[in-house]
Amino acid sequence: MLLGLPEFEMFFPRSVEETCALLAKHGQDAQMVAGGTDLFVKMKQRRLVPSVLINIKRISGLDQIRCDADGGLHIGPLTTIQAIRESALIAKHFPVLSEAAGVLGTEQVRNLGTIGGNLGNASPSAEFAPPLLILNASVRCLGRRGERVVPLDGFFVGPGKSALETDEVITDIQVPNPPDRAQLVYLKHSLRRMDVAMAAAAVFVLLDGDICRDVRIALGAVAPTVFRARGAEQTLIGKRLTGDSRESELLEEVAQVAVGEARPIDDIRGYASYRRKVVAMLVRHGLEHVIAQVRAQATERHANEA
Ligand SMILES: Cc1cc2nc3c(=O)[nH]c(=O)nc-3n(C[C@H](O)[C@H](O)[C@H](O)COP(=O)(O)OP(=O)(O)OC[C@H]3O[C@@H](n4cnc5c(N)ncnc54)[C@H](O)[C@@H]3O)c2cc1C
Repeated sequence: MLLGLPEFEMFFPRSVEETCALLAKHGQDAQMVAGGTDLFVKMKQRRLVPSVLINIKRISGLDQIRCDADGGLHIGPLTTIQAIRESALIAKHFPVLSEAAGVLGTEQVRNLGTIGGNLGNASPSAEFAPPLLILNASVRCLGRRGERVVPLDGFFVGPGKSALETDEVITDIQVPNPPDRAQLVYLKHSLRRMDVAMAAAAVFVLLDGDICRDVRIALGAVAPTVFRARGAEQTLIGKRLTGDSRESELLEEVAQVAVGEARPIDDIRGYASYRRKVVAMLVRHGLEHVIAQVRAQATERHANEA
């Protein structure tokens, strides 16, 4: 049930350092807020009742999207989902992130919600977590003990729990440039388009001829945290993809290994048994899709070279 917001005192720090100091001072009584689309819902449901809110929206410079010299992407934590969705830079070089932004919530939520809040909330169904995991992304954070970079693989430690200390703020999301010729896709399954995922998968494949050189599979909403399905990845790495029935059997085997790695629960969005079926379908479909794209790209390259 949604009630009104409980009473709280709000601070509007102008810098990350000021934010860290306020977080350290108010400790467990405080919550940092960006767009508020996760936090205010929790407060209305009384799952969180902070007496102090530290609103970081007025800190300048944290909503930038840029590429560095080697093509790596930096996304400021206050970048809204809509800004990511509309970014030509992201659409061109990291389309899998545009795909995730395009299926997150409603227009109102996308206009308010931020990528920092999506990761900071550490939900098992956080939209950006699977694609950022297969991109080997990291978060830069600043706390009273200094700055550190935390790989996203290891950032999520439980439902709603991240590796952040209570006084740490995400200041940058760092995404390395994926290898040329790698193909990536993000697939989400939910009952209605605007709903949070019932299950999600992000898939990355890099082929060398017909040998699978690298594969990364991240699953969302089917375990206490978003995670890399490393067993499934190992089943495919180094294997020859022959485009025939053996390939089809292999991809089905990979999908079933991923199902075995998932730990879904029954909840209002779906039954665990149904989620397992969806995982198999998403992983298999994701692999087929990216492999077809790699092949189409190779055919085009050969045609251009001829
Ligand atoms: C109707 C509705 C539909 C939604 N649909 C989806 C969906 O389909 N997919 C999905 O993934 N989410 C969905 N959400 C959840 C939410 O909108 C997103 O997770 C959004 O990205 C949260 O961003 P925010 O800025 O609003 O976070 P906030 O609510 O402001 O913050 C969330 C948490 O992150 C922390 N935080 C914020 N910024 C930082 C930072 N810079 N450093 C460290 N911690 C930080 C806050 O302290 C808080 O604990 C939905 C929400 C609603 C209300």
